[in-house]
Amino acid sequence: MTASIILQNDRDKSLKRRHPWVFSQAVKQVHGTPNSGDTVDILSADGKFVARGAYSPNSQIRARVWTFDQNEQIDAEFFLRRIAQAWAVRQQLFDLSQTNGIRVVAAESDSLPGVTIDLYADVLVCQLLSAGAERQRKHIVAALKQLFDGYSIYERSDVDVRKKEGLEPRTGWLHLPRDSGEVTIKENGLNILVDVVNGHKTGFYLDQRDSRAAAGRYAKGKTVLNCFSYTGTFGLAALTGGATHVTNADLSDLALATAQRNMELNQLDLSKATMTKADVFKLLRQYKDEGKQFDMVILDPPKFAENKSQLVGACRGYKDINRVAMQIVKPGGLLLTFSCSGLMEESLFQKVVADAALDANRGCLFIERLSQAKDHPIASFYPEGHYLKGLVCIIQ
Ligand code: SAH
Repeated sequence: MTASIILQNDRDKSLKRRHPWVFSQAVKQVHGTPNSGDTVDILSADGKFVARGAYSPNSQIRARVWTFDQNEQIDAEFFLRRIAQAWAVRQQLFDLSQTNGIRVVAAESDSLPGVTIDLYADVLVCQLLSAGAERQRKHIVAALKQLFDGYSIYERSDVDVRKKEGLEPRTGWLHLPRDSGEVTIKENGLNILVDVVNGHKTGFYLDQRDSRAAAGRYAKGKTVLNCFSYTGTFGLAALTGGATHVTNADLSDLALATAQRNMELNQLDLSKATMTKADVFKLLRQYKDEGKQFDMVILDPPKFAENKSQLVGACRGYKDINRVAMQIVKPGGLLLTFSCSGLMEESLFQKVVADAALDANRGCLFIERLSQAKDHPIASFYPEGHYLKGLVCIIQ
């Protein structure tokens, strides 16, 4: 018999709105002895079926829903159906000859909690973050083999959140291993190197695809400072869009070396780019002190807030960095500024940037809003899926 968890009175409300998480405080009782990742039925206080999900005894999120349909079994076909559905959405959205780095499955937003799958040309990378996803690895890989015949599959489950689920990090080839993790993808026609073994996250920041394209549209005739450049792809888009010069700044030697190779791969004029290994926080101040200015500054920092208690500090950090960035934008120039902290809502981010403008004593016009790319959709029932915000600002 399937084990089950019984919810406290009235704790089925968010599930009825199709939000896929059950917090530990919402659980009254556990029937049976489910192990980590086992499939359990989730029942309301009066014993009615609400959902079926994966049990995670070590996590504050005690269960994550796989289905709200009592008749749906969580088996190989289930994962094949769900992944095929997510892939069908993406196939409508992209011309694979121009863009073949695509998030195929965006976890909760694609009704597969804890499961992220990215496609890089003919290599798939999967990241399994929850006890349920871990338990279902075999079915997930089988579905990928069937849908993407002949593609290699690499696992990058090496993120800290797995600890909260009581899971160890795991990486390695799961299918058709290769000697190297390096793949060349296309993004809006640009060639981009992605290292699925050594790169950040699953190898690349696919979520910024549309923002890179936007940077390209604004870049004509401009000098650009690309802060937190990683492998320099905002810079590639800017140069292709007609920027006169790009300075890529990042702390990582490997990322900057790849940025250089990305320039070569796209036959761009190497004299138009500078790779600067620096702490952006210090570099911005240094440029300000030197009176160095740019026509366009891009700020795409890593996440500042991992949890609610860090949000106030994160606001301070964003305000500080945006203020100094504004001070080195030429009057009438552009700032493209981003926050990938999910806890920072769009309106709050705009307020923080507005406060930065006040402190910098500069005018700031918001002329465009940017968001995560289309293969990172936001499900109506899971608003937390909207984590990436960007503002295009004219700095006066
Ligand atoms: N804009 C990139 C993604 C940026 S991710 C893209 O579109 O691909 C954040 C980057 O910031 C990482 O490459 C990381 O190495 C870098 N980083 C983190 N802290 C930094 C700091 N203090 N100074 C400079 N770079 C930093």
